[in-house]
Amino acid sequence: MGTGAFEGIRGYNIPKGTCIFRLDDHIKRLFASVSVFGKSMPWSMEEVKQAVIDVAAANRCSSVYVRPLFYLGGETLHINAAESSPHLLIVSYDLTNHYNKPERLCVSKLHRISPQAAPLDKKITGYYINSFLALHEANLAGFEDALMLDDKDNIAEATHANIAFVHQDVISTPTQYSILPGITRATLIQLAQENNIPFVVRDIDVETARSAEAAFMMGTMKEITPLQQLDTTPYDSAHPMIIKCIRLYNESVRPSTTTHPEWVTAIHF
Ligand code: PMP
Repeated sequence: MGTGAFEGIRGYNIPKGTCIFRLDDHIKRLFASVSVFGKSMPWSMEEVKQAVIDVAAANRCSSVYVRPLFYLGGETLHINAAESSPHLLIVSYDLTNHYNKPERLCVSKLHRISPQAAPLDKKITGYYINSFLALHEANLAGFEDALMLDDKDNIAEATHANIAFVHQDVISTPTQYSILPGITRATLIQLAQENNIPFVVRDIDVETARSAEAAFMMGTMKEITPLQQLDTTPYDSAHPMIIKCIRLYNESVRPSTTTHPEWVTAIHF
């Protein structure tokens, strides 16, 4: 019934192992998401963290996506949490041959669920029917992904990534109103600040989005993925600002190049 919470965590290829990016932040968000069920996680943060590391290490994927999924069991017909038992499943996917490339998006006819309906800063499985339907609609129309609007008709986010636009070398991204505030988005905001790149958080309407020179998605899986076009509006997918963001992000995910050692957890096989 959608009563689950999950994370998407990325590990990057390093010599003789993998390097998990912002593991602590993902685990903290998982626990925050689980808290909406009014049930406490029967494992500590340290235990869940170690389990994610163990799964990544056991499967020896040097480039990996790890998905811990907490869910309430279906022991009862009722939709309350009291009689449902907590479960945790952790799976990993080999991303060795996965590379993101520029994508074409359409503005979805389906709006993002309202922040008045549920706490959207949590990563709850049930919310993803909204993303699934918008993505399906976009794929049927020949686009790789969809951009969803909020209940005020401002841009919210793509179906499973945050979005940013570039106007005259200023990057802007929607406010936290109707989005999952992503860890990649927070990473980029911090990296931009540290590197004197103007990055603003504000409401963005469709017209403003279409007037941008460039746009990109931000997410653990999508990393920094440039947009090629929004409906029929073309963007510069090789805009220097995007190239700079990709470089800063790529440097931050590995111990040898990161300016933030606290973000990386190296696992040697
Ligand atoms: N929004 C949604 C709806 C998502 O599913 C994701 C992917 N987790 C993001 C944004 C990006 O979040 P993050 O950078 O933490 O992966």
